[in-house]
Formats: sequence, structure tokens, C-alpha cells
Amino acid sequence: MSLVDLQQASETVRHAGEGAPVLDPFHGYFDREGPIPEGVDPARSRPWFDLLGWGVPAGLYTYQRALEGRSGARVRVEGRDLLMMSSYDYLGLIGHPRIEAAALEAIRAYGTGTGGVRFLTGTNGLHHALEERFAEFKGAEGAIVFSSGYLANVGVVSALVGPGDRVVADERVHRSILDGCRLARARVRTFRHNDPAAAEEALAGRPAGARVLLIVEGLYSMDGDVCPLPDFVALKKRHAALLMVDEAHSIGVLGATGRGVHEHFGIAGSEVDLWVGSLAKAIPSIGGAVAGSRAMMIYLQHETAPFMFSAALCPAATAASSAALDVILEETWRVDRVRENAVALRRGLKDRGFDTGNSEGPIVPVILGSERRTWAVARRLHDAGIYATAVVHPAVPRGTARLRLCAMATHDFGDYDEAISALVTATRP
Ligand code: PMP
Repeated sequence: MSLVDLQQASETVRHAGEGAPVLDPFHGYFDREGPIPEGVDPARSRPWFDLLGWGVPAGLYTYQRALEGRSGARVRVEGRDLLMMSSYDYLGLIGHPRIEAAALEAIRAYGTGTGGVRFLTGTNGLHHALEERFAEFKGAEGAIVFSSGYLANVGVVSALVGPGDRVVADERVHRSILDGCRLARARVRTFRHNDPAAAEEALAGRPAGARVLLIVEGLYSMDGDVCPLPDFVALKKRHAALLMVDEAHSIGVLGATGRGVHEHFGIAGSEVDLWVGSLAKAIPSIGGAVAGSRAMMIYLQHETAPFMFSAALCPAATAASSAALDVILEETWRVDRVRENAVALRRGLKDRGFDTGNSEGPIVPVILGSERRTWAVARRLHDAGIYATAVVHPAVPRGTARLRLCAMATHDFGDYDEAISALVTATRP
């Protein structure tokens, strides 16, 4: 049985009215009563099961759609070709022959696993090569790679602060950062999104002896706007805070050569204490990385839990990430193209009256407001051959549900005409 056959056999294909078939990843569970699981808090399970009980039988659940083959500007789902409008693969590097060849070669040379955690038996030469490349890419002295961006954030935040310390973070930072704060048991103060004056208020009046970690993102994942980094660098200096910037979505995307938000603003990478990034967005692999001073990296090698207690990044992913960093720096047209495409996509949407918030980069939200309407629009787009992700609470504040559209370097302007005209039809009352 092929992979695709296996996938189809394991899922129930449902037909919603005259629309295209929709995969039900829950095997018809919500066609029946669909009870909540026993033993878990109903206050947490009930809202989900109510929403699913409404949306799944109506064919409005467009999450977890299984791709048949590689992701890219066009993808195959349930035997249909869809235009992918919500991928993190901003540079269109999934399937790049050089990156795939590096992964295959790594498997041949190093095998599929590492046999251990980084601190003990799991480190190999590929990790060191990637760490050197990533540090150079961010203008830092050193770097450490982890097996996901989520783990990198949790590990780094919880290593940097503890009870009695303070974290001052933008209110829109990623869940992994907030989870790191919980683990650290540090006091967290969030400030109004992208507002350095509000951050300054939150930084003021810290208890004597308390450390302060200021956390922002380069490019915000749900809003697509860029942080005013120079203001935060000035703030961190004035308040003797450590500054950490999550670049999950800005690596490969911001700055003339895709090095990220420091290049975008023309400031040295060394102005930021900790750069954290994902290797699973513009870099088409899996993993996370942190870059900073040599002393900081030595400390983190000994104090971040995932470095000691979670398996080392596998050879294929490590080599793919290194090759991707090389490709990003060599194939500069991709960084240029994704930028031009983002401008075209945003302009096209605004011209048709859609609310794209303050987005600047390739993430272009289409803010629709109601969660149920957003689900319905995503389903209509699916029928029209467009793959667009509906983002609802808790990923975004209530009342600001949206489609999270993303430009890719491998889209063309015709793709945007197609997507926008489908969106105009799908949002008609
Ligand atoms: N930070 C941000 C801003 C993210 O959006 C994400 C993932 N969506 C992560 C961190 C976690 O990265 P990864 O997917 O590599 O675990």
C-alpha cells in the first residue's frame, strides 16, 4: 500500500452537500453523540467538543487536512490540487534538491537517529556545523540547536530566569515563551503589542536584585507586523535587561539577505542577547536554534533542560537546515521575491476592502472577526481550491478571528488573483 493509500484508508471521507469531499479526521465521531473524554476537566474539554460537534458534521473543520506529498505553492489534498496560501515555507524551499540531497547524505553517513541527548552521546559534527552557520547568520559568537523551536524557547527562558526574576514580554509572544515563563516561575508582565513605551512602564520599578528578561518577536506570527527592534535595544540598555528576540518567522524573510530583524533595521546581531529561531519555517526542516555570546552558549549548554534531557536533533534535519542556510544566502532572489509577493498580496486584499491589520512581511492576516464565520469562509475557500488556515481564539484574541494568509517566493501574481477572487466570493453574505 502506498503512503497515500494508507492515509486515505485511515480516514473517513465525508461529503458535505454539493461541496468537495472533506476529510473527517475524527472517523465520524461527531456524527454520533461525540461525548467528552472521561477523567479530564470538562471546563477544558467541553468548549472544544461543542465547537467540533457544531463544525465537523457541517463540514467546516478544515484543520489537519492531510497533504498527499510535499508541501509547496500547490498541494494535493484528497486527490485535488489546492493553491497553498497559509504555509510557513515562505521561501518555497521544501523540495529543494540541494537540501534534500544534504538530508539523504546525512542519513547515509550518520543514520536516522543520534542515540542520545546533546550533552551525552547525541552530538555529532553536523550539529557543530549548523551551530557555526546559524551563529554567523545572526552575527553572534555561538549557537545551540534543539529539536524544535518550541523546546528552544521553553529551555532558554526557563534557564535564564527563576522565581524572583521578572519577564517583560509583548502580549502577543508565542505560547512556547509563555510556557517557558511558567516553568521558570518568574513573574511575567506583558505589555501592549509592539509598544516600547508600554514596555518601559513594565520594566520600571523592578525589585532590587531581580533579573529582567525582555522578550519580543522579530515578525509576529498571527499579525505579520515587525517589532521596532532599535527601540527595544535602547530599552534593554537603559534598564540593564537581557533582550531575547524570537525570530521564528523573520529568519529568511526580513533584511536584504534574509538574516532577520537586525538586518532589517541595520543593527549588529550582537546588540541582542539571545536570538531564538525555528528551523521549520523558511528553513524547511525541523528544530530550533539559539544564538548569542560564547559565554551565554556555554551556560545554556549546561542549564537548558532539552540539551540534557531530550534527544539531539536528527542528522537529516540538521544537515537540511545547514544546507538551507547556504541556499538562502546564495539564492537571494527568493528573499526578494517573497517581499514583492507580500506587497502584491496585501495590496490586492486591501483594494478589495479586506482588513489586513498592520502586517508588513509575508504573513498577511485577513481579519474577519467571528470564529464561526472564519471557519465557514475557510471551508468555502477549500471548495474553491484554496488552502487557507482559519485562526481563532486562543491563538488570537476573541473577536479577531482571521485567515492567516502567507506569501511564498514560489507564488506568482496570478495565484493572488485566484485567491483574492475566491475570497471575495467566499465572504459574500
Ligand atoms: N516561536 C514562534 C513565534 C512560532 O510561531 C513558533 C511555531 N509556530 C515557534 C516559536 C515554535 O517553533 P517550532 O515550530 O520550531 O517548534
